[in-house]
Amino acid sequence: MSGDTTAAPVLIAGAGPVGMTTALALHARGVEATILEAESEDRDRSGSRAIYVHGSTLRTLERIHPGLGTDLVDEGLVWPTRRTLYQGKEVFSRTYDSPGGSGDIPHFTSVPQVVTEAYMHDALEGAGIDIHWNAEVEIVDSSPDGVHVETSDGREWDGEFLVGADGGGSTVRKEIGANFEGDQSENAFIIADIEDEQIDGDQPDLERIFHYDAPEADGRNVLLVPFTGGWRLDIQCIEGDDPEELSSEDRMREFVCDIMGNEYEDDLKWVSSYYFLQVMADTFVDEHRRVLLAGEAAHLLAPFGARGMNSGVADADEAASAIAAAIDARTDAVVREEVELYAARREKAAEYNLDAAGQALEYLQGEDPVTVLRKEAAASLADHFEIAGEWLDDAPYGPHGTPPIVSTGNY
Ligand SMILES: Cc1cc2nc3c(=O)[nH]c(=O)nc-3n(C[C@H](O)[C@H](O)[C@H](O)COP(=O)(O)OP(=O)(O)OC[C@H]3O[C@@H](n4cnc5c(N)ncnc54)[C@H](O)[C@@H]3O)c2cc1C
Repeated sequence: MSGDTTAAPVLIAGAGPVGMTTALALHARGVEATILEAESEDRDRSGSRAIYVHGSTLRTLERIHPGLGTDLVDEGLVWPTRRTLYQGKEVFSRTYDSPGGSGDIPHFTSVPQVVTEAYMHDALEGAGIDIHWNAEVEIVDSSPDGVHVETSDGREWDGEFLVGADGGGSTVRKEIGANFEGDQSENAFIIADIEDEQIDGDQPDLERIFHYDAPEADGRNVLLVPFTGGWRLDIQCIEGDDPEELSSEDRMREFVCDIMGNEYEDDLKWVSSYYFLQVMADTFVDEHRRVLLAGEAAHLLAPFGARGMNSGVADADEAASAIAAAIDARTDAVVREEVELYAARREKAAEYNLDAAGQALEYLQGEDPVTVLRKEAAASLADHFEIAGEWLDDAPYGPHGTPPIVSTGNY
């Protein structure tokens, strides 16, 4: 170790959900880590980001920090009804008696990312893990023995491994020379959060609604999702739209009144417009197998199907598992293999997720005649065949499967 540094063997760049999960997952395996975060402690992390947390993510968080998964379950909600409309007419609706399933951890929960992050901060504090604020990672030098990092506050850090969880603009990714190229959605999406104190898990009539070509939004697709304390409103722009103009406060107020009712006129909390990127790094590890990329530093996914933070948490857990095994290893070859196995697994998972989110995006934007025809045919058959309406209800989120499990070995 050299410079003004830490005794922890692992450095983590970024205190987003993925960096914090990595630190907790390492701690659970008996390995201490130091988090280096570019921003200051009093930063504002508000904005419309992840709300849909998969059951597998909740189970991971519960496993690495008992109580964290169930706290999020208590804070979140599970809506019992999924409903879809097509040009003003209902084409599908289903209400589940037990929408979350029967165990302590439901199939999903709907909770804003700011709340998830607040619980992660508490968990870090409970585990005695420090975040070094105002410490932007600027330089990364790896060697076969470890990693040397320099931060914007003039400090230098040495560790055995570095996890780059520093988000979409990742410096760590650039420093290891990974390429990051991909596609951008054709249309913009306007995403807003609307406050509603009444919304909590005790309400039996909560619904997630998807509306194709909604008349209230002048023929745009609209998604409305409840979360504890409010609603996520997602409006898909159409050709010729100016996202800036549509996301202005006055125009949003009109949308909110038309789509949700006048009682919500003053409840707009925040709004942003996005073009979604679909891209992954061409390698998740450096040449010396000492730096691992995780979360949005490694991949950016369109949010339909909610694979961003959820897959980032899986990256974090697997990165921690690989590093813990590598730290205990007695040969350099095993160290390299553990890290390479991480890369093989999570690159494969990212490819799968990219493809799944891409299918959802293409379906939503799809102006190709086959997709248009299928939607129209399904909508016209939905009164007679439930399966047609169910397909319309399902399709905006992409396929349901999970990424393949990748192992080493010659089979
Ligand atoms: C509208 C929208 C809806 C979404 N919905 C969902 C959803 O329902 N479910 C889901 O799973 N995902 C969703 N996502 C995706 C989710 O928000 C992201 O995947 C998640 O925030 C990624 O976490 P991260 O920790 O990798 O990166 P970030 O959250 O970007 O965190 C990166 C951290 O690194 C810090 N940092 C940056 N550079 C440096 C540096 N050089 N040195 C040190 N620190 C640095 C940043 O300040 C930040 O704290 C959504 C995203 C959007 C935009």
